[in-house]
Amino acid sequence: MRATGLHEDVIVVESRAWRTSATAVRSGDEAFLIDSPVFPDELELVPALAEQARFDVRALLATHGDWDHLLGRLAFPGASLGVAETTAARLRAHPGEAQRALRAFDEEHYLERPAPLALGSLDALPVPGRCELGDGELELHPADGHTPDGMAVWIGWAAVLVCGDYLSPVEIPTVAGGVDAYLATLARLEPLLARAAAVVPGHGGPIDAASAARLLAEDRAYLEALAGPKPERAPLPHGRRDRAQRRLHAENVARLRS
Ligand SMILES: [Zn+2]
Repeated sequence: MRATGLHEDVIVVESRAWRTSATAVRSGDEAFLIDSPVFPDELELVPALAEQARFDVRALLATHGDWDHLLGRLAFPGASLGVAETTAARLRAHPGEAQRALRAFDEEHYLERPAPLALGSLDALPVPGRCELGDGELELHPADGHTPDGMAVWIGWAAVLVCGDYLSPVEIPTVAGGVDAYLATLARLEPLLARAAAVVPGHGGPIDAASAARLLAEDRAYLEALAGPKPERAPLPHGRRDRAQRRLHAENVARLRS
């Protein structure tokens, strides 16, 4: 697991699984953890790492309801978990889905965990909206399209955008929430990039704002082609064309046909 300090109040850890990002953000003497690493040893390490950096993690946020972003409770069992209202509704509509997906991953990789994942009662946050942290505030922006739910988190005092599963240097857009919704989310993220010093995508980050802007243009071009008359011909962005990405592309095409 790699840890990167982006700002005195922002540390990102990158999981070995899918390079999933988790972001610790601090204001005053309070900190939140946004999203989560995936492997048990990584989750065990995060509280010690946070303590060492004097980040007192009081609560968790998740950018969206995919299971690999929801594991913060395994590191901080007592902390509350805040999600967008759309994510809370999704998780309530599909109880146990995250736990089943986690179990399937663990079985495939022969992993054992000290405790089962309990999501507990969720704090459903209005998005767009603001969320208090210490003497600062996080801005919450709607981010759907990758999934039907989700939010991006803007950390104003550090100029860091934690965007969930968008603008990834390692993964093409996947459109379970719809191509139009995805494009609308990119349009909402674009003005934030102009103010950002760094961007933390859900997988493969952190990156600088110029790289994020280039990825945004590539992703928009891919999605516009995907929405066109020959979706299967949509050219995959440079550097994201390997077998795993071509499989995600085939899933996008199948989704559009169904
Ligand atoms: Zn993800």
